[in-house]
Amino acid sequence: MQKKDESLKKIFSQRLKKLEELPKIDENKSISSILSEEGISRRDFMKWAGAMTAFLGLSSTFTPTVAKAAKLADRLPVIWLHMAECTGCSESLLRTDAPTIDSLIFNYISLEYHETLMAAAGWQAEENLENAIEKYKGRYILMVEGGIPTGNEGSFLTIGGHGKKGKDIAKEASEEAAAIFAIGTCSSFGGIQAAAPNPTGSVGLSKITHKPVINVPGCPPQD
Ligand code: SF4
Repeated sequence: MQKKDESLKKIFSQRLKKLEELPKIDENKSISSILSEEGISRRDFMKWAGAMTAFLGLSSTFTPTVAKAAKLADRLPVIWLHMAECTGCSESLLRTDAPTIDSLIFNYISLEYHETLMAAAGWQAEENLENAIEKYKGRYILMVEGGIPTGNEGSFLTIGGHGKKGKDIAKEASEEAAAIFAIGTCSSFGGIQAAAPNPTGSVGLSKITHKPVINVPGCPPQD
């Protein structure tokens, strides 16, 4: 586990180094500056970083890394996709209390797409997703909930007016993401959908993209 953490930290520090070189998305509005504008002390900021570390399913030794990322990052654009799942992982997110979901959405991240939480539907929702991928190319965090059906060429899961296959949406969104999280056991390993005889050919997210995926298993993941 320790060895795994060390190699993850190495990857994160390489990513942060690259992030330092990028122009800001929203000038002067890093997460830490928003917190300090709200009168949050350095001590409370570190507490917040600890809570975010736990939210991401990482061990507490990652807290300084998360704090550094918050100092560098603007409100992070997040795209959250739903595949074959029960929405329990989203339910778990909605019940978070440190930070609460409203402060998470309004202060710390910019939730660009989440089918359960957004107001848009149908064509408009599809357009929102395409726009977010284009606008934040290489900058957004992709969170995927649910297993990915690949059987019968992925036709067990189609989404939206164009009937796009879930596996294609997840694959395309993965291509341009800065980091990818598979949220929950379904997305990490296929979950209940992948139980024998697995009629829909469901798999974990890492099986359909060549990009690195951080698995956050649990049903739903918490703490
Ligand atoms: S991991 Fe569990 S809670 Fe999350 S979508 Fe799958 S079945 Fe639902």
